[in-house]
Amino acid sequence: QLKIGLLAIQGAFIEHRNLLESAVEQLQQEQRQKKQNSKDCYSVEAIEVRRGDQLTEDLDALIIPGGESTTVAKFMQQNGLLDAYKVWFSGKAVVWGICAGLIALSDRVVDMKTGGLAVTTDRNFYGRQRESFECQIELKPVEDISDCNEYFPGVFIRAPKILSIDKPESVRVLATVNSYPVAVAQDRILACSFHPELTEDPRLHLVLLKMVLRSRGEL
Ligand code: GLN
Repeated sequence: QLKIGLLAIQGAFIEHRNLLESAVEQLQQEQRQKKQNSKDCYSVEAIEVRRGDQLTEDLDALIIPGGESTTVAKFMQQNGLLDAYKVWFSGKAVVWGICAGLIALSDRVVDMKTGGLAVTTDRNFYGRQRESFECQIELKPVEDISDCNEYFPGVFIRAPKILSIDKPESVRVLATVNSYPVAVAQDRILACSFHPELTEDPRLHLVLLKMVLRSRGEL
């Protein structure tokens, strides 16, 4: 059982749950192909997280969804999530920040301060709602994502931009647009500046599940 929490601030729960279910099916398929029969029975449980006491040790991962990063920060502070998060994340937990979630996880943010991920992010680099756009994202040929260069549908909504990667030795770039990073991973942190939950492509959800398995020592 893979238990994945979604910080329940502004919806997108059903979209994430559906993609997590597709991702776990793909995981099972891959494992059957590799004949790793002993572990081919994973299932996924998605839960909405609203309070700090829900960040329990058996929660494998937390998705911090998009929205407004100031609202995300305030919500976490007011619901005892910030302190609970620090304790929870110091264990084996995996976290995935999407858009506003990327901002919340960035070590350095133009105008704001939070942390964990060694990148500098500009919150509203791509401007307002009407500057939101869709484009093809290039997935890098790295372990856990794809063997060759592939594309992922990119939905950017008031998107932040990763201005710099401050520790290139520990931050992996997973995807780019015009050679700028739009998805990165560092240890047990995954972050992206676009919204995979608004597509039907479960590949990044699969990356999250594999990060969980790796953290549990099962991959
Ligand atoms: N730019 C927004 C912020 O500052 C994030 C937008 C999003 O999550 N879609 O929080």
